[in-house]
Amino acid sequence: MTQIKLHNTKTRKKEVFTPLDPANVRMYVCGPTVYDRAHLGNARPVVVFDVLYRLLRHVYGEGAVTYARNFTDVDDKINARAAESGRKIGDITDETIGWFLEDMGALGALEPDAMPRATEFIPQMVAMIEDLINKGHAYAAEGHVLFAVESYSEYGALSGRTIDDMIAGARVEVAPYKRNPMDFVLWKPSSGDQPGWESPWGYGRPGWHIECSAMADELLGASFDIHGGGNDLMFPHHENEIAQSRCAHPDAGFAQVWMHNEMLQVEGKKMSKSLGNFFTVRDLLDQGVPGEVIRFVFLSTHYRKPMDWTAEKVRIATGHLNRWSQLEYRALSRSLEDKEIEQLVDAEVFNALANDLNTPLVMSRLSELAQEAHMSSDKDSDAVLRFFATLKFLGFDDLDPQRLERRKTLEQSEEAVPLVNKMIAALDQARAAKDYDTADAIRAKLAAADIHISTTKSGTEWEYPYRFDPSKLDSLK
Ligand code: AMP
Ligand code: ZN
Repeated sequence: MTQIKLHNTKTRKKEVFTPLDPANVRMYVCGPTVYDRAHLGNARPVVVFDVLYRLLRHVYGEGAVTYARNFTDVDDKINARAAESGRKIGDITDETIGWFLEDMGALGALEPDAMPRATEFIPQMVAMIEDLINKGHAYAAEGHVLFAVESYSEYGALSGRTIDDMIAGARVEVAPYKRNPMDFVLWKPSSGDQPGWESPWGYGRPGWHIECSAMADELLGASFDIHGGGNDLMFPHHENEIAQSRCAHPDAGFAQVWMHNEMLQVEGKKMSKSLGNFFTVRDLLDQGVPGEVIRFVFLSTHYRKPMDWTAEKVRIATGHLNRWSQLEYRALSRSLEDKEIEQLVDAEVFNALANDLNTPLVMSRLSELAQEAHMSSDKDSDAVLRFFATLKFLGFDDLDPQRLERRKTLEQSEEAVPLVNKMIAALDQARAAKDYDTADAIRAKLAAADIHISTTKSGTEWEYPYRFDPSKLDSLK
């Protein structure tokens, strides 16, 4: 079995990945707080860990991987959204979860095996908090329960900070009921419209960090393989998850491997509402940027490097995908079975992925594979099958879902196909007669209608346009 190597934030090294149980490889990724559409940055961890999920399933078997990604559906930002809009919290979170799954699906992301909502795991959180109090790692004060950071000697190990550094560097909330300013909330009181549950410490709601510890424990066990998220979560969120889980289960290791993706920027700048460069995945999809283009751009940068989203990258990705889509149409006559895809995945692509998800190398290898597929003239040749199986394995499942629709529209428009054929015949005739002016004029008209032509031994061939707009055929008349 090929070795997978992953960079572990915990050790700051690339390590050979050895699952605790190869028959049940377990991964937890921190998911979104659901009060609004996912912005483009939120999509980065989704795509990164989707690629890892696909790789793990490929190596260990589809049924041997459990991937959990939570929805944070109790949070003060959600309460604020409910208060300002007058809507019910449940309606907001349900709607946002639906949007999230739809938008991430458009990027080719598989749904995780478990998508726990925090509000469905309150009893498990309360039980973990009680356990932490009993073990001397947490204390109740004024309706709150706080985790005592000084009770865990390894606090700060993941992010490489000491408690003193943290106090100096962080904007910690100083509160009279905290023994140490770094102590963080496990439970807090709720009042009025705030969501809340009965607990041994009164009516209240959980803090953010305890949610992931309790859900990971319930769904994956006290020790599991991989924990992921954006590197903005490393401190305090992941540091606090580790403290809670290791103190609740001193004999278990919690996550073996910690993986963090770097942040996404836009045209070299941090994405922010004030800079006017903040947009959601849905904004892009609605502007006509296909999901696979977003996926392509994401995979072109390694997950541990900051990723710069630029219009130029979108243009380049669209060009590649256009060509691949046309190649698929021309050279692949059937859809590939999952089993076949597994067997045909290109070894170099696989090796690059297995080397800490080297997706930039994967993308350049894909271009080579596309070239090989282009050169093999037979339909369904080995090179063609290998290329498309590899693409599908990487989550480029349907290069363009509307393609067949467009082809149908084109073919159903009675005059379109004969019209293009007539133009092509006239072009070949003009060429044979060395009437280059006429040939150029026809070529320009075809180009204006997005009809791509190529010269082959048997004459001029044309391809169905990637984005077919029947009105453009008017220029051919
Ligand atoms: P949040 O809803 O803010 O907790 O974020 C959900 C996920 O998106 C987390 O894994 C974050 O680390 C990640 N994330 C947020 N902003 C960005 C960004 N600009 N680039 C990459 N990942 C991000
Ligand atoms: Zn988390």
